[in-house]
Amino acid sequence: MNPSNEPSFRDSVDMMFNRAVALMDLPPGLEEKIRVCNATYTVRFGVRLRGKIQTFTGYRSVHSEHMEPVKGGIRYAMAVNQNEVEALAALMTYKCALVEAPFGGSKGGLCIDPREYDDHELELITRRFAYELIKRDMINPAQNVPAPDMGTGEREMAWIADQYKRMNTTDINGVACVTGKPTNAGGIQGRTEATGRGVQYALRAFFRDEQGKKKAGLEGKLDGKRVIVQGLGNVGYHAAKFLSQEDGCKVVGIIERDGALHDEAGLDVDAVYQWIAKHGTITGYPSANCEADGAKLLEGECDILIPAALEGVINLSNAERVQAPLIIEAANGPVTAGADEILRKKGTVIIPDMYANAGGVTVSYFEWVKNLSHIRFGRMQRRQEEARHQLVVDELERLSSDSGIGWQLSPNFKEQYLRGAGELELVRSGLDDTMSTAYDSMAAVWHGRDDVDDLRTAAYLVSIDKVAASYRAKGL
Ligand code: GLU
Repeated sequence: MNPSNEPSFRDSVDMMFNRAVALMDLPPGLEEKIRVCNATYTVRFGVRLRGKIQTFTGYRSVHSEHMEPVKGGIRYAMAVNQNEVEALAALMTYKCALVEAPFGGSKGGLCIDPREYDDHELELITRRFAYELIKRDMINPAQNVPAPDMGTGEREMAWIADQYKRMNTTDINGVACVTGKPTNAGGIQGRTEATGRGVQYALRAFFRDEQGKKKAGLEGKLDGKRVIVQGLGNVGYHAAKFLSQEDGCKVVGIIERDGALHDEAGLDVDAVYQWIAKHGTITGYPSANCEADGAKLLEGECDILIPAALEGVINLSNAERVQAPLIIEAANGPVTAGADEILRKKGTVIIPDMYANAGGVTVSYFEWVKNLSHIRFGRMQRRQEEARHQLVVDELERLSSDSGIGWQLSPNFKEQYLRGAGELELVRSGLDDTMSTAYDSMAAVWHGRDDVDDLRTAAYLVSIDKVAASYRAKGL
């Protein structure tokens, strides 16, 4: 996919890291300590399937243990390799530091095409992979807590949690060994939508930043902005859906692995998603133009480009032709270091992956806390909050009628005000707060320092500073 003169994903992440540390004053040797990946465990295991033993290769990489547990997803894809897993683990370290999720960075991967196996086979493979990692404490609520990533979801996380419980029957916190579980198996509401929701909140934060918008040559609100999204998986689907249904954006392009849909009037994200679920392809979708060369649309005219699929899709071969003034990296590493430089020179603003897709790990953090506290968020406060609001409403209505003014509270206001926050509302509010706080910390560096001209460098500076502070506090 990438031209051969392109650095590897791992090197690309290191180059971006190096650009930022060159602007910092770290104690000698600390820069190297933070950059390197602490350990990568490779496992090869056999599973008896369809009458013969099949051997699988998986990885779990731990980038930094300045905070424990370490955190990061497990991906199932044929392209998984050590270099990729290490790059993704490094990004997890920076991501967690930036959004103040108290974890080090880790990532796992299994070299497999999940579409080739049925549910039962996938369960056998997942349980065996989990067994190999659990017995070496590479899955453990206090040390290493995986989550979903590309090719995995709630179902795999439930199998992993169950496998851990079978092997650790007396661990009262066992369910916290993995996040992204279904809600009926210790999960939290809002986790599945979290990464896409985080992309929406990140864009809302950006559109509140007048200086940032000016740098991108954009104006006004999100309403009416033209969006192209690449990848209608969990992240891309939720981001595109929320932006179009709640913020008034027009999704004018959707790129999938087998082509792209283009419609200046705006695509119906749910209808496209359902079409793909039913037919396994976007080809033939009736109400838009379908172009076979999907990647070409990455260069299409729009206000916001959302690469939400693979790494390295914007690279030396196409960066120059990318027209979007604003790119938000919903995927990890979609822009290579070389492309990043070209785009920076062109004045394209990039909201970097370590911030843009941090919604997933943020809500994973909430789930982990919920599991350790053994109680659903809001359970103690909700009724009490509703009772207090009812008091205010009753008093206002009494005053209005006693004084003869006759004001009426609108039914809509009453309904919203009287409803106490449940778990989903609290999760969304915590995520929104996290995304705006992290945006402000990046923007302060981006706008405040003459030697920083992009958000990615600003994000690295904020996050490396936090990792360095943890190492210093440990006396290292
Ligand atoms: N796989 C997601 C990521 O890359 C989520 C990780 C997590 O929740 O631990 O950020």
